[in-house]
Amino acid sequence: MEKRELIYEGKAKRLFNTDDATLVIAEFKDDLTAFNGAKKDTEAGKGALNNKISTALFQMLAEKGIESHFVAMLDDTNMLCKKVDIIMIEVIVRNVATGSLSKNLGIPDGKVLPFTLVEFDYKNDALGDPKLNDQHCMILELIKNEAELDQLRAMARQVNDILRPYFHAKGLNLVDFKLEFGRDVNGKIILADEISPDNCRFWDLATGEKMDKDRFRQGMGGLKVAYEEVLNRILN
Ligand code: 5GP
Repeated sequence: MEKRELIYEGKAKRLFNTDDATLVIAEFKDDLTAFNGAKKDTEAGKGALNNKISTALFQMLAEKGIESHFVAMLDDTNMLCKKVDIIMIEVIVRNVATGSLSKNLGIPDGKVLPFTLVEFDYKNDALGDPKLNDQHCMILELIKNEAELDQLRAMARQVNDILRPYFHAKGLNLVDFKLEFGRDVNGKIILADEISPDNCRFWDLATGEKMDKDRFRQGMGGLKVAYEEVLNRILN
C-alpha cells in the first residue's frame, strides 16, 4: 500500500491518500492537546500505543458486528482505513459523571449515572466543540434526518454495551468516551476515528487511578505508563 499525499492533519492524527481511492492511511501522532489546543505537549510512543489499542478494539468490535473504518494496522503508527466522510458530530457516551458533565451540571464527580447518557458535541475547534441538541444538528445540516441521529445514538450504545463489560473484566471502569462516525463510499454510517485513552476515560477498578488523557489534562504525569497498562490489559 503506497502512502501518498497528506489530505488532513488533526490534533492526534494525519491522514494520507493511498494508491486505492477507497482507502486512507491514518498516522497516529505523539502530540497531546487539551482544552481545545490551549495545552500542548508531545509524548514519544503515545501514537503507537493508541494505534495498537484502537486496532485491538476495532478488531474486537468487528467480531461483535460493529462495522468501522478499520482495515489493518500497517506498522507501529500507521493504520489503513476505509475512506469516509466524517460526520461533524462527536458522540459522547457517559456511564459515570465527571469532566464537563460534572462541571456544567453540578453532578458530583464519580456519580454512577442511573442510565447511560449519550450526548452530541459539535466537532468544531473554532467554536470550542459546543453541545448540540437534535434541532441544532438539523439546522446545521450535520446529519440528513432525525432517524440518523437515532442511529448514531443506537450505535454508540451498542459500542458501550460491548466495551463496558469488556473493560470491567480487565479491571477498568469505562467512565465515558467520544466516538466519531463517517459515511463510507456507499453512504453507510460506520464507526471511525480511534478508540484509545485519548478519547476514553478509564479508571482502575481497584484503585480509582486515572488511566487516560486526564493525566495530561490535570498535569499528573505518568501518561505513557498508564496507556501501556491499558494496552497490556487489552492484550492479556
Ligand atoms: P468531557 O465532555 O467530559 O470533556 O469529555 C467526555 C469524554 O469524551 C472524555 O472521555 C473525553 O476524552 C472525550 N472527548 C470529548 N471531546 C473530545 C475531543 O474533542 N477530543 C478527544 N480526543 N476526546 C474528547
